[in-house]
Amino acid sequence: MPAIDLLDLVRQAENVMDYYVQHADGAEDLQCARGCYYCCHQFVAATAAEVFLLAGRLKTQGRHHWARGRIRGFHHRMGDVRDRKEWHAKQLPCPFLINHECSIYSQRPLACRGLFSFDRKRCEETAADTGARVKYWREPMDQVADLQVRLGFAIDRGYGPRAVPICLFTGLELVLGDVEGYAQKFEDGEDLFAAARERALIMVFDDEPDKLAQIRERIDANAAAQDQIQTGQ
Ligand code: SF4
Ligand code: SF4
Repeated sequence: MPAIDLLDLVRQAENVMDYYVQHADGAEDLQCARGCYYCCHQFVAATAAEVFLLAGRLKTQGRHHWARGRIRGFHHRMGDVRDRKEWHAKQLPCPFLINHECSIYSQRPLACRGLFSFDRKRCEETAADTGARVKYWREPMDQVADLQVRLGFAIDRGYGPRAVPICLFTGLELVLGDVEGYAQKFEDGEDLFAAARERALIMVFDDEPDKLAQIRERIDANAAAQDQIQTGQ
């Protein structure tokens, strides 16, 4: 049995996020709505727990093969991008965006729940400007970052050194191949997300080399400590 019910923590984090956005000061002026999609061409970071929750939901709905196929096609078209600028330059829509609408809207990851803007026109303009970042309403994004850090700590405590967010798409492509099997491996302490973590690090910290180096050091130190625990040294 897992030491902590991570999936339930994510469900609670989703509720907190949705409540926050509905009740925060200024929320009535938001331009965001289902079917608005200019922010859906970006890299999406998620915690491992979010990846498992979404994979499980897709499996329950019988949409896991469909989703994996779409993500595979997305990765094929994306190719070997080296940083966020190259990612944006591809202008590829998220694999879950169908006919300009999110096909997993009620189950979308925390990062997508925290993107909000008071100016849709600006979203449209900046989304078309490759490499530019849309100016979002900062507070929900900070809340998401905070929730992800807290989830990361919970994951660290329950499962070892995995607090760093990973690439949603790389993580999902793997896990959707065998949702229960990979969940078991994760619980057993296997580090499944090295590739997804590496992609997220490059995308999120591509313009902060010092911070990237610090995080890599922390991951290596945590991994070494975990190895020692597992080998009983
Ligand atoms: S952040 Fe911008 S593009 Fe995304 S839903 Fe809101 S208004 Fe639309
Ligand atoms: S998961 Fe949905 S909301 Fe998030 S980027 Fe993809 S299409 Fe947009």
